[in-house]
Amino acid sequence: MTSYYRLLGVPEGADPSAIKGAYRNLARQYHPDHNNGHPLSERRFRLIAEAYDVLSDDEKRLKYDRFGASALTRRGSEPGLVGNVQRLVTNIEQALESRMRQVRKRGEDRRVVLDVSLDQAVLGASRAVQVRRRTRCDRCQSTGAEPGTSLESCHVCTGQGRIKTGSGLLAVENVCPFCESKGRIAPSPCSGCEGIGEQERVLDLPVQVPVGAQPGRRLVLRGYGEPGQAGGDAGDLFVELSVKPHALLQRDGSDLRCSVPISVAEAVVGGEATVPVLEGGTVTVRVPPRTRSGQTLRIRGRGCPGSTGERGDLLVKLEVETPVVDTAVALDLLIRLEQVSFHPERAEFRAALRRHLES
Ligand SMILES: [Zn+2]
Ligand SMILES: [Zn+2]
Repeated sequence: MTSYYRLLGVPEGADPSAIKGAYRNLARQYHPDHNNGHPLSERRFRLIAEAYDVLSDDEKRLKYDRFGASALTRRGSEPGLVGNVQRLVTNIEQALESRMRQVRKRGEDRRVVLDVSLDQAVLGASRAVQVRRRTRCDRCQSTGAEPGTSLESCHVCTGQGRIKTGSGLLAVENVCPFCESKGRIAPSPCSGCEGIGEQERVLDLPVQVPVGAQPGRRLVLRGYGEPGQAGGDAGDLFVELSVKPHALLQRDGSDLRCSVPISVAEAVVGGEATVPVLEGGTVTVRVPPRTRSGQTLRIRGRGCPGSTGERGDLLVKLEVETPVVDTAVALDLLIRLEQVSFHPERAEFRAALRRHLES
């Protein structure tokens, strides 16, 4: 139990005017209005207000002196401030106590997904992932005090961070709820970190996407997971690669595939086709005369790096597109073309069909 007298910094037998004076000084210092509504100041102000509420009331003070703070709350006669603040004190004490008792524990691992393009996954790339991390506050150099102001020893625990009550076997040591175990108080808490001394920041962590990375590959950034507890190591950050599909190229083992539509005329007389390559840009390939639809050309060494480091091939599938013919003139030309062209495969098929019917 935290003594209300300690909170106000007065001896147990203090007379009402000393209590009032002590309260006024502390209230002026910790009133949230004087501290930009700072949460630490607010918590401290509520503790002081609770102490004063009890010690300035003869009846409550008498009960408190005889039975302690629990006597005031257990009867339920004083809902509102006393009850609330008593709970608050208890909560803070419990939270801090449990933090004190924590065992050393490694932090949890974290997982983030990094979207990479196909060329980054295949050829490797330097990328960055963003992670939120608590780091020391630069504004106050982690002291928790607004720059230009200094830290004061906590008057409640006299700088110990813990308060011992009772003696001998009955001695109990509790965390000081006023300074929240730090022993020192920043009368003007740092506005950058709320007086905690740490700030949450978004860090850009460099990540090297390895050459030939497959979708779902996990990269490990050691120590960038959740922070450990009570001096335990931080967890690791797993960066999982998600490979975005390429508009024109598909991966097939160590090869890449690309389908290129060509016209009937290009297929008949031959020509050139422009093919995309993974590094960006294009290469030109020769379309041979009498190309069949689905015929595949192989461009050596423009695929993906395999386990030996040697790159696979780029397989270009030439697909003859059936033309859209929707004018009478074009249709007429097509029929005349049909009459003067030779389709050896079709002729062969029809001959075989005839033999099939005759047998
Ligand atoms: Zn700070
Ligand atoms: Zn303290």
